[in-house]
Amino acid sequence: MAAHDSAAPAGCGTVWFVGAGPGDPELLTVKGRDLIARAGAILFAGSLVNVAATRWAPPGCVVADSKDMTLEQMAAWLIEQAGRCETVVRLQTGDPALYGALIELVQPLDAAGVPLQVVPGVSSAMASAAAAVESFTLPEVTQTTIFTRVEGRTPMPAGEDLAALAAHRSTLCIFLSITLLHRVEAGLRAAGWPEDAPMLVVHKASWPGEEQIVRGTLATIKQQCRDAGIVSQAMVIASPTLGARHWPELTRSKLYDPAFTHRFRKASA
Ligand code: SAH
Repeated sequence: MAAHDSAAPAGCGTVWFVGAGPGDPELLTVKGRDLIARAGAILFAGSLVNVAATRWAPPGCVVADSKDMTLEQMAAWLIEQAGRCETVVRLQTGDPALYGALIELVQPLDAAGVPLQVVPGVSSAMASAAAAVESFTLPEVTQTTIFTRVEGRTPMPAGEDLAALAAHRSTLCIFLSITLLHRVEAGLRAAGWPEDAPMLVVHKASWPGEEQIVRGTLATIKQQCRDAGIVSQAMVIASPTLGARHWPELTRSKLYDPAFTHRFRKASA
């Protein structure tokens, strides 16, 4: 039993922070959908979460959009609803652990003794890779993926500027930065990425009928996004793996290499 459960007011419901996925309602987890289907109240971020995700809400469920609420108002709303119903759902875009103000909402619920749980979701980073048929890792190319952003109104902690992170030459999934592509470019250039380094921008990954995929290079991507009119809800990806689908030579994964023996298979060659 979690320490906070004991403090829960009698008859108090649970607040579930549910990752709504990147946009396509079918990318909700089964668990997330089941929670929505039995929710007494749902608070969703209308500016980012596809409202279609609430389509499974039962009749009588109270559905509110948090886009005009402050954090304090959101916390008060969730606490009030938990006093009224058994299952309260806070729908967050993508996965709740990434850029989601999760902990800021968890703290007031803890303070009020309201039990809570988190259900992961498909992040837009993963949905963007899927949309473009890309792999963030390839043997002997890169085995590392960094989730980051460039500095906007939220300052970057020391040591996390893009130039420092890009020095690893790993895959970079850059959130919240589509209007700051000049900073993305400057960071990659400062780390020595060449002008023809491949880049990918996916706007509204997985949103039915709205997804846009732009492929370019460090030299061209900003203008291409401008031409395509992409100014929001986009994932910027820089990676030495981009476009590997069309490479003539790939270093194979050891796991499936005929000459490689492992726990489940003996080498055949
Ligand atoms: N928790 C979310 C991220 C929230 S921050 C997740 O795991 O995906 C919001 C940023 O996520 C946006 O600025 C954009 O960079 C990215 N994003 C969210 N939905 C997106 C989508 N459908 N396609 C591309 N990028 C998206």
